[in-house]
Amino acid sequence: MAPQPITLKAPNGKEWEQPTGLFINNEFVDSTKPENTISSIDPATEKEIAAVQAATPDDIDRAVNAAKKALKSPEWKLLPNTDRGRLMVKLADLMEQNHELLATIDAWDNGKPYSVAYNDDLPEAFNTIRYYGGWADKISGQTIGTTPQKFAYTVRQPIGVVAQIIPWNYPLSMACWKLGPALACGNTIVLKPAEQTPLSILVFAKLIKEAGFPPGVVNIVNGLGREAGSALVQHPLVDKVAFTGSTATATQIMKMAAVGLKNITLETGGKSPLLVFDDADMEQAVKWSHFGIMSNQGQICTATSRILVQESIFDTFVEKFRKQISEVSVIGDQWSEDTFQGPQVTKQQYERILSYVDIGKEEGAKLVEGGEARSGGGYYIKPTVFTGVSSNMRIYREEVFGPFVVIATFKSEDEAIEMANDTIYGLGAAVFTKDLERAHRVASEIDSGMVWVNSSQDCDYRVPFGGVKQSGIGRELGEAGLEAYSQVKAVHINMGNKL
Ligand code: NAD
Repeated sequence: MAPQPITLKAPNGKEWEQPTGLFINNEFVDSTKPENTISSIDPATEKEIAAVQAATPDDIDRAVNAAKKALKSPEWKLLPNTDRGRLMVKLADLMEQNHELLATIDAWDNGKPYSVAYNDDLPEAFNTIRYYGGWADKISGQTIGTTPQKFAYTVRQPIGVVAQIIPWNYPLSMACWKLGPALACGNTIVLKPAEQTPLSILVFAKLIKEAGFPPGVVNIVNGLGREAGSALVQHPLVDKVAFTGSTATATQIMKMAAVGLKNITLETGGKSPLLVFDDADMEQAVKWSHFGIMSNQGQICTATSRILVQESIFDTFVEKFRKQISEVSVIGDQWSEDTFQGPQVTKQQYERILSYVDIGKEEGAKLVEGGEARSGGGYYIKPTVFTGVSSNMRIYREEVFGPFVVIATFKSEDEAIEMANDTIYGLGAAVFTKDLERAHRVASEIDSGMVWVNSSQDCDYRVPFGGVKQSGIGRELGEAGLEAYSQVKAVHINMGNKL
């Protein structure tokens, strides 16, 4: 029996048929336990939007086998690269045609302002697919001369069946960051979305079929991490695992993927520093540092959640930062045009952030802003700022993943760099200074995958993204992102050397 779609109508009036099953072989099918459901909650109202089916390990087995079969099918394997790219561009076009609908679902499900989902998330998602569609017929190897009568050539081949596990903070963009390079390189995929945001990806699945991808090339299975996610990672026919989420889960995934020596790419969390030197443009530093931690409800892996300010300008900075919060951080639901900050994604995340407020107070830090929930329902948290922090405090060291920032001081450039690097993480970092030499020097000394100079959170599908230390392994986006999804084969040719 095929699972019945349900008709949903969002608070902005948008109405659609929401699939509720698992997407395997280009069809929506029932879970082997259809009563296993996961519930999508509107974080602004705390009411259920819909329940969708969750995959069991048996369903994961079905999806992986579908991907394995598709990998070998002539419809995919022998599809000319240019035509593969054309399918991807068609998919991007279909997404763009459904721009409002997909932005509506992500906003409703996740809690982010609709304007952000529409203006930022969705263009990032469909442009990533389109960009990698352009790469599909430009992935090539090398010819390497060895001896006069011998040479070798290399070809870049797909890795095989790829398991992709994504988080809830940017539901469709995270899916497209992973699907784009994987498809461009000719892999087949089983993607498991986060259980907190299961809806938009099922509507997206319909577009995959409509674009004309052969059955089994992309399979989408909602499910719980510990059940469906771990079954997927451990499946013997999975050749590669790509994951974005917490460092704790990444550690478990790496252990599971070690069995069978599966190829992995991990993108995890951070406690990214933002450095403000005394010669910085103060207005710009305040604007970007606020955006760097308070946008997307602070639920950004690269959030600049540790602001380090040179001592002489500390008081002025804090005062202006608080003013920026009062003027810009308008809290509201997803649908109001004024909203800058929506609710946190789930009750669990909301409670987790509030628990860090208690931790900060117990540790003796000084709460200078926020530190409480907004009353009246919904998972809203007021933008929170702690000063008086020291480097051994948990609020200074641990990822909170909310509108929660610590501001500390430094005296010299050397101390700023030392403080910036005093973390297990290394995802993003920002430096504010008008001194060109210092900007490059600091950018080179900070241990992180990305550095923003006089900016924060710039992210572009053409530019590599990823972390060092415990923030991840491998790169996504840009040309570098293709390396994660293809493997080099060397073919040695003897042109007649009979010795
Ligand atoms: P998580 O790491 O547990 O979940 C991310 C994804 O991994 C989800 O799809 C989940 O179902 C899956 N998963 C969970 N356990 C798994 C397992 N054992 N095997 C396979 N897959 C598994 O993250 P979370 O619980 O949603 O959030 C907790 C914290 O993680 C947040 O507070 C934040 O600090 C961090 N986080 C980081 C990012 C990021 O972009 N780096 C995104 C979301 C959350």
